[in-house]
Amino acid sequence: MRIDGATLERLAATFSGKLIQPQDPGFDAARQIWNGHVQRRPALIARCRGAADVMAAVRLCREHDLPASVRGGGHAVAGHAICDGGVVIDLSAMTGSRVDPLTRTIQLQGGCLNAHLDRESQALGLAATGGIVSHTGIGGLTLGGGLGHLMRKFGLAIDGLRSCDVVTADGDFVVASEQEHPDLFWGLRGGGGNFGIVTNFTFDLQPLGPTVLAGMVAWPMDQAPEILRFLREFIADAPDELGMMANLRLAPSLPIVPKELHGKPIVALMATYAGPADQGRKVLARIRQLPTPAFDAVTPKPYVAHQKMFDAAYPHGRHYYWKAHKLGPLTDETIDVVVEHAAQVTSRLSAIPIFCLGGAVARVPEHSTAFPYRDASHDVEIVASWLPEEAGDADRHIEWVRRLYHALEPYSRGVYVNFTSDDAAERVRQAYTQGQWTRLTALKAKYDPTNFFRMNANTPPG
Ligand SMILES: Cc1cc2nc3c(=O)[nH]c(=O)nc-3n(C[C@H](O)[C@H](O)[C@H](O)COP(=O)(O)OP(=O)(O)OC[C@H]3O[C@@H](n4cnc5c(N)ncnc54)[C@H](O)[C@@H]3O)c2cc1C
Repeated sequence: MRIDGATLERLAATFSGKLIQPQDPGFDAARQIWNGHVQRRPALIARCRGAADVMAAVRLCREHDLPASVRGGGHAVAGHAICDGGVVIDLSAMTGSRVDPLTRTIQLQGGCLNAHLDRESQALGLAATGGIVSHTGIGGLTLGGGLGHLMRKFGLAIDGLRSCDVVTADGDFVVASEQEHPDLFWGLRGGGGNFGIVTNFTFDLQPLGPTVLAGMVAWPMDQAPEILRFLREFIADAPDELGMMANLRLAPSLPIVPKELHGKPIVALMATYAGPADQGRKVLARIRQLPTPAFDAVTPKPYVAHQKMFDAAYPHGRHYYWKAHKLGPLTDETIDVVVEHAAQVTSRLSAIPIFCLGGAVARVPEHSTAFPYRDASHDVEIVASWLPEEAGDADRHIEWVRRLYHALEPYSRGVYVNFTSDDAAERVRQAYTQGQWTRLTALKAKYDPTNFFRMNANTPPG
């Protein structure tokens, strides 16, 4: 599809950002998203500078019936940020932010990344729950819920969300909060990008650090059953301050990993203590009763550095495919399934990260946001990753993900909508409870009856 010159000129007259067309230098770079496996060619990339640009871009699409996608951080593994033949409403240049120390809040423009949240808030010794990779977009992450190292203490990203500036499917501007458009505010907290484009987020901040006791401890994979059983017991009565994850993979060649372990299968625990380090040491003493680890990198360190720990493991442009399940407490059966499939991994870059939920996440009443199954204990991701030059092997790696995904299906407590890959509509449906789905589809009918915002984990209008 080509957008005619007159239409483009009209947009350009009201647009302060950059309009990038296929013939422009830089187009190929601008259409790349995090997942190199997804390659699409839009007709136009409208790189917005603010809400006025977003409104102009939405109105152009509506008037000319052009399909559109919305790009925040570009991390959705399914490639929702980019469309074929339509308009990408690109927020990646909208990364302004401001911390208000008096109200302990931060305002973040819709294209901000976790790195922006962490850097600005930590400069004042404050923090909010963000994701575990610093280059993930706040936009998509928050609208789906937002898991992170701090969630057991501070709740999900949406639990600290105060208000959103939203450009609707008609190109209008509204504020959504508990006071204004509360129905929309409810849907934005877990319903994904279905109801509008958030041009500005305001989050509550909490005191943290800036140094936290955090890091990774790892053992050879043959100890995985013991370590995961320990994790099950340990996290069940751990204080909210303790954020925990497990990860099963072949050890990467990183400086913290002893050379002799590089490329060898390991099971790792990642701890983040959102409280005084000496308390954290006492809590983590139980880990020290486990068999001696292959390495132990838990140490006081800047929270901002900890938040970048996984950045190198998930670079832009590599090829990825993943699926996920929410689970109840790990059982011997689920542990066996995970360990068995970890041993069959097909790529040295693939991994099985396991988030531990609970704490503050579980205490928020389920009906108060659109984030479902808050009582789930874990979120298990099955992440396949391979180099672009290994594209011929893609099917093998994707098949590994699907095999483990199917093996865990009998134990599934639904899916976190931000961890869906090529999932069919019924999987998006399974992401929500019946009550939430009824409310979300009604909200979609009210705010986006033509399903203009459909490049997402889509809720159709009811
Ligand atoms: C390496 C990596 C690490 C991750 N770690 C975590 C994690 O720790 N915790 C977690 O919860 N999730 C995590 N995720 C999943 C992540 O939350 C989703 O991929 C999310 O969609 C990323 O948002 P984005 O803005 O970067 O992506 P995009 O692909 O730009 O957007 C994702 C969806 O949100 C919509 N969207 C984005 N911004 C806006 C906006 N401002 N207004 C309206 N709609 C918008 C887009 O249209 C699209 O449908 C991770 C993903 C990756 C790739």
